[in-house]
Amino acid sequence: MSTSKETGNRPVPLLDVPRSNLPLRGEFQEAIMQVCDSGQFLFGPDCRKLEESVAAWCGADHAIGCASGSDALLIALMAEEIGPGDEVIMPSFTFFATASAAWRLGARPVFVDIDPVSFNISPAAIRDAITPATRAIIPVHLFGQCAEMPEIMAIARQHELLVIEDAAQAIGASVAGEPAGSWGDIGCLSFYPTKNLGGFGDGGIMVTQDHLRAERLRLYATHGMKPRYEHHVVGINSRLDSIQAAALNVKIKHLPEANRLRQQNADRYQELFEQAGIDHQVVLPASGETMEHVWNQFTIRVPGQRDALATHLGERQIGHAIYYPIPLHQQACFQVEGESLPSLPETEKACKEVLSLPIFPELIDDELQQVVSSIGDFFAQQQRSAA
Ligand SMILES: *Cc1c(COP(=O)(O)O)cnc(C)c1O
Repeated sequence: MSTSKETGNRPVPLLDVPRSNLPLRGEFQEAIMQVCDSGQFLFGPDCRKLEESVAAWCGADHAIGCASGSDALLIALMAEEIGPGDEVIMPSFTFFATASAAWRLGARPVFVDIDPVSFNISPAAIRDAITPATRAIIPVHLFGQCAEMPEIMAIARQHELLVIEDAAQAIGASVAGEPAGSWGDIGCLSFYPTKNLGGFGDGGIMVTQDHLRAERLRLYATHGMKPRYEHHVVGINSRLDSIQAAALNVKIKHLPEANRLRQQNADRYQELFEQAGIDHQVVLPASGETMEHVWNQFTIRVPGQRDALATHLGERQIGHAIYYPIPLHQQACFQVEGESLPSLPETEKACKEVLSLPIFPELIDDELQQVVSSIGDFFAQQQRSAA
């Protein structure tokens, strides 16, 4: 292990994908060569197998592979014929794709505020944002913890709204024992390499309980074509290829252990922050009572000093990231002429305070200690310069 000369600490990566994949090298090789030998690069048996496994993980009856999590959201909204004149309620504190899917179809993303503890969409804010034009709600299960789905589903039923779960960061998470993807009308997941179930490139999947909905999703993902050269609707071409599916079929077997290790790392952070006496300088993430968190990110709040701490960690080569620095309601591309920006105070505050730390399953204890001791050094320095 190398040691930084100036600071004496060892670097820690935010994420180390090769470290996760190396122990499975032989399994990957075999699975991928099988696809290679079969020549069935699309719609092969590996694709069906993965769809079955993900459906089971999500407590859903159907799963339909597609090219990315972004496409999953887009296809879900297309298949529900969401378009001009429709409003879609969603958080502003999320990745861009949640909103661009609605915008692209001519619908209007209606951004609402979050709960400051969970970082997830506030059910009360959803209720306040409903108008006669509202068609759907997209709760995002941010950082690996589900949004408050029982409350959100009750609101949706009362107002006859669709619910499309953005579960890109949350495979395996649950609320009250029911998994992400099982609550809404459609669940959208991503296999982007940094997600808990990460592929060898782009990939995504949609899950649903409804047989007719599943058929429509598949139709929209294949140019609206069924059978060949008969087009019923104008869909897109969005496929999960067999090599991705083969690699993911290997990884999904190890997902329970990977998620367990993420939880273990989160618990260890709690312990180390307490031991270092800095568990009050920062706000540590907590999982809600009925929530099973899968820790795609370990995101702390650093009131007033986030950017200074990020710089400090950067100098010590301690991996960190800011998800997300700019809320979507303030992005230039979503501005509407003649309309003023909504004010979403909790979202705007979170954007200024959040800092995500390394949490990937294969982190070793020494690395967790390096992260926390580097943060401890920062606060010790602050105290010295204040004295
Ligand atoms: C990653 C992600 C997406 C998009 O998934 P891609 O596969 O990268 O297109 C959508 N929503 C959220 C919340 C994400 O984290």
